[in-house]
Amino acid sequence: MRAVTVLGGGIVGLTLARELRRRGIEVDLLDSRSVGTGATGASTGILTPPQHARTPFYQLRTRAWQMWPEYAATLSAESGIDVGYLRCGAIDIRERTIRNPQRELRKLRDSGGRVEVLTRDQIRQLLPDLVRSPEAGLLVEMEARIDPLATIEALRRSCHGAGVNIRENLGPIRIEPIGDGGITLVATAGIELSQPSEQRSVILAAGWESVSAALAVAPSPLPLEPVPGEAITLDLAAPAHLVHFNLLRDGFRDPSGNRSIYSWIPAPGGGSWLGNSVASGNRVEQTVGDPSSDAVAPTAEGRDELVEVARSIFGEDVESRITGHRAGIRPKATRHGGPLLGRWPGRPQLWVATGHYRAGLLIGPVTATMVVDSMLDGSPIPEEFQLPC
Ligand SMILES: Cc1cc2nc3c(=O)[nH]c(=O)nc-3n(C[C@H](O)[C@H](O)[C@H](O)COP(=O)(O)OP(=O)(O)OC[C@H]3O[C@@H](n4cnc5c(N)ncnc54)[C@H](O)[C@@H]3O)c2cc1C
Repeated sequence: MRAVTVLGGGIVGLTLARELRRRGIEVDLLDSRSVGTGATGASTGILTPPQHARTPFYQLRTRAWQMWPEYAATLSAESGIDVGYLRCGAIDIRERTIRNPQRELRKLRDSGGRVEVLTRDQIRQLLPDLVRSPEAGLLVEMEARIDPLATIEALRRSCHGAGVNIRENLGPIRIEPIGDGGITLVATAGIELSQPSEQRSVILAAGWESVSAALAVAPSPLPLEPVPGEAITLDLAAPAHLVHFNLLRDGFRDPSGNRSIYSWIPAPGGGSWLGNSVASGNRVEQTVGDPSSDAVAPTAEGRDELVEVARSIFGEDVESRITGHRAGIRPKATRHGGPLLGRWPGRPQLWVATGHYRAGLLIGPVTATMVVDSMLDGSPIPEEFQLPC
């Protein structure tokens, strides 16, 4: 193989393109919109280390957490853009932590850093602007954040510098099966694309929209579910730590069965972000929107939810402090085990890297290395991540 076409310019596609180019492969990166306008551009950049390493997915997360400090430094140096890696730690004040902080503390004993129970007074001292008074929480040393938009720009610049051919705003690109195991790429009329061959493979890394891109290729559809998420920007001073809350909200329906967790995040530039871990499922149709549009549109319902949560945390006046709002669709793999990585069954020129759900910023770079190692050196990808036949 001499060349690869990467479909999708989120964190996954860009890290794949960079890694392939560094290993001497000719790379075209094609995006139906602008690079970074998918889930990656909407994300809040939290890097959470796993609580154990007993499954392949948690081992992957461990590798990812360990790799980020050096990865951020290398990327910042090679692009000249600071990707905003900050190991700021977190204050965790979810309901279950409040109910039994010692139990939660025990769960985090392998997190690799200090974990302490915080009393009500300590929380008040650390977070004086809160109108709520949680009875207990945890201070967790090992959590970090990056700046997702700066990371996208750094990756774009690094890819450009290395000679990746980035083509944007091409409209949706589809993969069609041909013959007994071949594939072809189909774009909007008039756009010329290099076609897959023995020398050129394709990696499908189009986030949630990988489903529609490969709908014609069996086994289809990809086992992916869209999970919308939204975040607002606040001109409230950045907290020193990430702060995680969970709130029981009337009428909240979580399609994934999770409790809704909200995070208050130190944003680059001194402000802060408030984002949800999952948004209610009926927002998918509104937010998936038109594939030819520039980006997923934030919803009025999403804003109302975040305003309600912000008021309960910061007080009634907080709405006037909102300066931005964004939304994205997280690609959640519906089979157990983590992201979908590896060669497409029965189509040797086609590879896939998607399904990173809520951890794409954390694990995107490590999954890129895993896929490229497999493509170029034949290194095995754990069965848990491979596409089910
Ligand atoms: C509100 C929110 C907060 C989040 N916070 C975090 C966090 O704190 N930490 C974390 O680790 N993760 C977080 N995530 C999850 C993370 O954003 C995703 O896991 C990750 O961005 C997925 O990256 P991706 O490259 O697979 O997809 P995307 O970023 O969605 O990129 C896919 C790209 O493919 C392009 N595309 C689509 N269709 C085609 C096609 N047919 N052909 C070519 N290109 C195509 C799109 O235009 C897009 O640019 C968050 C997500 C959201 C929505």
